[in-house]
Amino acid sequence: MVSESLGHLFLVSFPGQGHVNPLLRLGKILASKGFLVTFSTTETTGEQMRQASDIIDKLTPFGDGFIRFEFFADGWEEDEDRHQDLDQYLLQLELVGKQVIPQMIKKNAEQGRPVSCLINNPFIPWVTDVATSLGLPSAMLWVQSCACFASYYHYYHGTVPFPDEEHPEIDVQLPWMPLLKYDEVPSYLYPTTPYPFLRRAILGQYKNLDKPFCILMETFEELEPELIKHMSEIFPIRAVGPLFRNTKAPKTTVHGDFLKADDCIEWLDTKPPSSVVYVSFGSVVQLKQDQWNEIAYGFLNSGVSFLLVMKPAHKDAGHDLLVLPDGFLEKAGDRGKVVQWSPQEKVLGHPSVACFVTHCGWNSTMEALTSGMPVVAFPQWGDQVTNAKYLVDILKVGVRMCRGEAENKLITRDEIEKCLLEATVGPKAVEMKQNAMKWKEAAAAAVAEGGSSDWNIRYFTDDIVKANE
Ligand code: UDP
Repeated sequence: MVSESLGHLFLVSFPGQGHVNPLLRLGKILASKGFLVTFSTTETTGEQMRQASDIIDKLTPFGDGFIRFEFFADGWEEDEDRHQDLDQYLLQLELVGKQVIPQMIKKNAEQGRPVSCLINNPFIPWVTDVATSLGLPSAMLWVQSCACFASYYHYYHGTVPFPDEEHPEIDVQLPWMPLLKYDEVPSYLYPTTPYPFLRRAILGQYKNLDKPFCILMETFEELEPELIKHMSEIFPIRAVGPLFRNTKAPKTTVHGDFLKADDCIEWLDTKPPSSVVYVSFGSVVQLKQDQWNEIAYGFLNSGVSFLLVMKPAHKDAGHDLLVLPDGFLEKAGDRGKVVQWSPQEKVLGHPSVACFVTHCGWNSTMEALTSGMPVVAFPQWGDQVTNAKYLVDILKVGVRMCRGEAENKLITRDEIEKCLLEATVGPKAVEMKQNAMKWKEAAAAAVAEGGSSDWNIRYFTDDIVKANE
């Protein structure tokens, strides 16, 4: 089978939804161009994906190529929370991965599928070392914006002062970027971050970034033009996004959701155009109960229709069971729908959806931008605060529900109602929609044949083919 393809690309993903989605989307683009793509991550995550999609255990024809999946045991108990002690988990994953990935690659070669290139995403930079030890080329997919990539890079190398304990509120001016206020810098870099292990995991990338022959980025040149150009002088960067707009994707539904999406499209079909606010905070964020109460009343008071994603509580991570206030659903009636997981790509593309209340994770940000969807930014931590800055102040497609991290604040129902109305009715809403539509067109042009991201994918695949001649 590999002899009929352009080569065999072996993708290794960190087991997080926000990591799996963009890497699998890249895999689908590469498969549709004629490669055999193997997507690999941990067995526990594989099992979750299996529950949500029936295609995982099959070799699936995809465009001119194929996709298949191979999972490996990470050595942790199935129900242990991998994110609770991330330092320990990443160490363990590296230890196990450095042993099993070479065995998997060897087995693939024995079975007639020699691997042409390894591609990984953040938190597992050691995959590059595995490639080097096997004499294979490797690439990595950066799954955040170039602005965050640059922020971490400058912090890591100490080129510019960042907020520290002595000066916690200084602004940061990085080359080719807008001035970032202290609370717009990726928040894992705040001196007081409660997540130093995430800072370590992200900065750990930079130790190995001179090794991959290419750093692919889930962004596009028109979105961050000068900055991508500048960072490309330092790293071999190719902007290939938005990855979920795959112009050649066949109808086959290969997706990496960890939860089965609840049906809400039929409900959206019954609603008038641009009338529903979609609310989702990604795969990790768990708001506290009092914040959910404020959100619920904010929506009831605003009078807008809404589709709300409320993920099941992650008990292993110590999250409490969350509930909506008594009588909320009855009061909302058919004006509101609550689901545990949504088919977000489809929801954002639905004509009834007017705007998106988002935590500003980078996947959600790119999905909103490329769907022409205005946003209400409700960033909780990490890169989300920087993404919110760009969405609101630079790209001008959003309003802010709060400044900096919302995690330890309580945004009141009145503030929420005000933001919802600002984003859905009146001149600001019209302006945001117009800007969002411009970004949608720019994104479509980038991935269309001959667009910047399309060319970058072609350069990348040409390099792989040449490296294997
Ligand atoms: N997502 C989804 N349905 C939901 C919520 C999220 O399909 O109900 C997807 C969303 O489309 C995105 C990913 O989950 O691709 C979340 O990634 P993001 O970077 O936005 O946030 P994270 O989960 O990493 O915080």
